[in-house]
Order: sequence, then C-alpha cells, then structure tokens
Amino acid sequence: MFYECIECGSRFDISMSLYTCPDCDSLLEIELDLESVKEKIDRREFERECVTTWKYRPFLPVREDSKIVSLHEGGTPLYSCDVLAEEIGVDELYVKFEGGNPTGSFKDRGMTVGVTKALEYGADVVACASTGNTSSSLAAYSAKAGLDCVVLTPKGKVALGKMAQAALHGAKIIAIEDNFDKALKLVRRLCNERDEIYLLNSVNPFRPQGQKTIGFEISDQLGFDSPDRVVVPMGNCANIWAIYKGFYEFRETGIVDEIPKMTGIQAEGASPVVNAVKDGADRVVPVENPETLATAIRIGDPVNGPKALLAIRRTEGTAESVTDEEIVKAQKMLARLEGIGVEPASAASIAGLKKLVDMGEIDRSERVASVVTGHLLKDPEEAVDVSEPPVEITAKYDEIISELGL
Ligand SMILES: *Cc1c(COP(=O)(O)O)cnc(C)c1O
Ligand SMILES: [Zn+2]
Repeated sequence: MFYECIECGSRFDISMSLYTCPDCDSLLEIELDLESVKEKIDRREFERECVTTWKYRPFLPVREDSKIVSLHEGGTPLYSCDVLAEEIGVDELYVKFEGGNPTGSFKDRGMTVGVTKALEYGADVVACASTGNTSSSLAAYSAKAGLDCVVLTPKGKVALGKMAQAALHGAKIIAIEDNFDKALKLVRRLCNERDEIYLLNSVNPFRPQGQKTIGFEISDQLGFDSPDRVVVPMGNCANIWAIYKGFYEFRETGIVDEIPKMTGIQAEGASPVVNAVKDGADRVVPVENPETLATAIRIGDPVNGPKALLAIRRTEGTAESVTDEEIVKAQKMLARLEGIGVEPASAASIAGLKKLVDMGEIDRSERVASVVTGHLLKDPEEAVDVSEPPVEITAKYDEIISELGL
C-alpha cells in the first residue's frame, strides 16, 4: 500500500502523513496490493454478509482494527425506482440513498477512514473547510474519536441542518466572509503550517478510500453486478472519483466484470468540470463566484477536478449541468413519486439524468444507478420555500370539509 501521485507517478510510503505530492504538489491516490486483498476475501462469506462500510475491510487502508472510528456508516438503501424510471424514460433505475448515513450524507464513509487515519498519525485536532456536510460529519466523528475539530465555512451560506450538527457535536466553527474556495485555501495553509492539525478535506487521499464503498455497495446490492451507468452530483469531485475507484478495485479483484460509465452533474452556476468535459480540455478552469441553491455543490474551483476528468474519460462517461429550477423539480419528483427526501445537491443527479435522457445521450435500455448524496432535513428551509404553504383555517370541522372540497 502506498501513495501515488496522479500526475508524476511518484510513490511514497503510507507511514507518513501527506496530502499532496511532495515532488509536484498534485493530487495523491492510495494504491493497494489488490492481489493480496483478493486473497483475504472469502467469496462465499462475502456474499452472505450484509452491506456496511467495514464489510469491505480488506480494501480499506487502515492499520489496526482497534483504532477504527465508526458510527455504523454505509449499508444505505439502493431503492429500485420504477415510477421515477417511467417518468424519466429509462427501463431500470436505482437510487442509492446516502441520506441514510449517521449524519445524513455520504461524507460519513470518508470520515470513518479519515478520522481513523488522524488517530494513526497522532493528530490532536482535525480541520476542514465545508459548505456544510463535511463539517457535520467531521464534527460527529471527531467527537467519537475524542479529537478537537475546527471548521471553516462561508458565512451565512451553510444550510440550517448542517450548521445545527456541527454546532451540537462541538466543533469550533469559524465563518469567513468569503466563499468555500477561499475557506479551503485557508484551512490547507493552517494544516500545512501546523503539524498537530490534520486536514480532512477531500484533497486528503484517505477520504475517497472510504467513499469508494458506495461503488462496492451498489455492486453488492445488485448481486455483485455493475449498472451500465452511475450518475453523481459533483462539487469538489472526490466522490465521482471514489465511486469509480470502488468499481475499478472490484473489477481488478474479479468481483465484477465492468466499470459503469461515470456521469457527473453540476449546477449551471458552478460547472467548471462540465465545461472541461464538453471542451475536451485537459485542465479544469475555475469559475469565479459560483452560484446555486444547491449549496453542497456551490464550488467554483474543485480540488479533485483532475480526478473527476480521469473517472469520466476512462469510463466513457459524461458530464452535464442543470439549472436550479431543474434541481427543484427533480427534488420534488423524487420526494413525491418515490418517497425519497433529499437536499438540492443530491437532486442534481436526478435532474441531470433526466436531461441526458431527454437529449438522447442516455439510452432507455441502460441500467442506471443514481447517487443521492444527502438527506432532505439538511436544508429544511429550502424544502419549505419550494413547497406549498399550509392552509390556515380557524379550528372548525366545516372548514376542513370545504378545504378538502368534500
Ligand atoms: C459533498 C457533497 C456533494 C459533492 O461531493 P464531492 O465529492 O465534493 O463532489 C454532493 N452532495 C452532497 C449532499 C454533499 O454533501
Ligand atoms: Zn507528483
């Protein structure tokens, strides 16, 4: 097991804490010895065991089981959504509901591994910049681990549910008068200059290692098979890479035959990766002043842009952007046709799927899995804003009857 730079290919020993390549400052990836992972898996037992993040222990780069910090993340439902499939125009549609995690987003899968590594590397404090969910999750996992937690957020831009979580779990919350991209630059500097503070943004290569279990679980829940395509919302772009990596490792160990076409969706006001994919560009050009009501993907300068491009291009996937209006429409459709409540960023994957089907980019016969990343209650104010207000009456029975048109 070692770090490998995705640009220059240099390798580094995993016993030291690194965030980016010491030679060229590019992104690092964790590579496992997949032959030895394969030997550790008893296929019959593997098929019987129920899905959870730590079921895939041989694939997860932590040293000692006794140090693992877990709140029983993962094992989220993969709903088969026939009514929504019909509405969108595909034959087979599955929705992976990541709102079912302990703090209500997929970030918990990354934090179980990331906070465990913080303990292994002897950190006293963990830190992140966050649009909300990363801070909710880090606050909870650091509380469980007995570590102090610092979070930098864009002032006034964090959804209520996320703020409530970070606050109650006891994080030191610093709200800056700027956006997420600036918060990330500041926290990266803090962690580079202070060895005792461990950085847990998704530039940290261990977080995607936990998040790759989304790919493992989708395959597992389909009977160790791959869908044709996986659709994911993209913000900082660690997750699309992580899910790709999960399928890649399952293929390399002979568990599945194919890697799905990775398809990333961004909001129109924050779509630098979509622009790069459409232009066939090698680099992601940041968007200034990103804007969207989907705050979890309101990111103009995604650190993991290069990894997203690799995941999309290696699998012949694609990327598309959607408007806030399309996001809200998809959020309601999912809530009202399937009973699945998600925050706006999550609904981007459904909106993007619909758009790509309408454009003829995705064929009706494809078997599609859409990842919905966070719970409806993360952003309750948005949910109330976009829904019909309650009907107010005096407390009379007759008024109820007339209101119901009976
Ligand atoms: C973090 C997050 C995203 C974006 O994931 P990236 O890995 O940054 O691309 C999307 N939706 C929700 C709900 C999130 O919390
Ligand atoms: Zn390098």
